Formats: sequence, C-alpha cells, structure tokens
Amino acid sequence: METLITTDHVSVKLPPVVSRAQAIADKADKTLVIVSRHRMFATVHSGMCKFYLPCPCGNFGNLSMAACNCTVEEITDWQRTMKNDNASGIVFVEGYLRWSDFVFDKNFTEAALLLFKQAYTELSLTANNVVDMSDCAAIIANMDDSAKIDACHIAEAISYRLH
Ligand SMILES: [Zn+2]
Repeated sequence: METLITTDHVSVKLPPVVSRAQAIADKADKTLVIVSRHRMFATVHSGMCKFYLPCPCGNFGNLSMAACNCTVEEITDWQRTMKNDNASGIVFVEGYLRWSDFVFDKNFTEAALLLFKQAYTELSLTANNVVDMSDCAAIIANMDDSAKIDACHIAEAISYRLH
C-alpha cells in the first residue's frame, strides 16, 4: 500500500489519481509536480512526485476552474519554486480524501472509529487533523491506562481542536 502519511496509529492511502501519476512519472524517470489546494499534501514529497499548493487564488493552469486572478508577480514566484525542482509535468489533484483512505491500527475500538468517522464528515477534517487527533487520542488512552483507544478518548481529542 502506498501511503501519503504513516504514523504509529494511522496511515493515509495515496489517492488513486496521485498513485497513478506517480507510477507514470517513476517509469518515465521524470519528476512530476502535484498541485493540490488541499493543505494536507503540501509537505509531502513522495518518490519522484513533489507536492505544491496552487497559486494564491488556486486557479492557474487548472482547466476545470475559473480564471486565475493572481498578479503576474504572484504567478512568477509560484512558478519559480517549481522550476527549481526541474519539474517535467504538473498534475492537479482535486477532491478530498475518503474515510476509507484512512487505515487505523487495531488499537481503535469500533465505537471510536464510528465517532471519528462522524467527526471527519461533520467537521470537514483534513488528513492532518485526523493524524493529529489519532495521536492525541492515543496519549489520552495511555493516560487512562486503557489498552484500547475508545470513543471517549476520540471525543476528548476532538474537543481540544475546537477550543
Ligand atoms: Zn491564481
């Protein structure tokens, strides 16, 4: 399984569009730039793929989007970063990660995962939120001398984000 993020308690699978683009780039021995408006990708560099945030308005070069309204200076700065990495191609990634893209370890109870899934949908959590909350819930469970991460630990971890 190719992953975007892997920690002690959770890993996030690469979205299909990214793993396909990555496989093609690897075979062609090219460096590919993945541009995504989702901040969760911004710090991930995987194999021959490098991830970047889009231009400040988010629309440059993306045919399915409205026109870019950034200044020439903003676009020049944005493109310079990618040119420095000798990119051969650019892929735009849309869409959020699905809940099924998260793989949790067996320390989470069914009730914990059910509550977590609900929070992911209702609070529009990012992949980084899920990873941070998993770590936080694991710490809380440990402090409670609980072998499993249960719904109450998830609930407490979620509450810290909202403050
Ligand atoms: Zn723009």
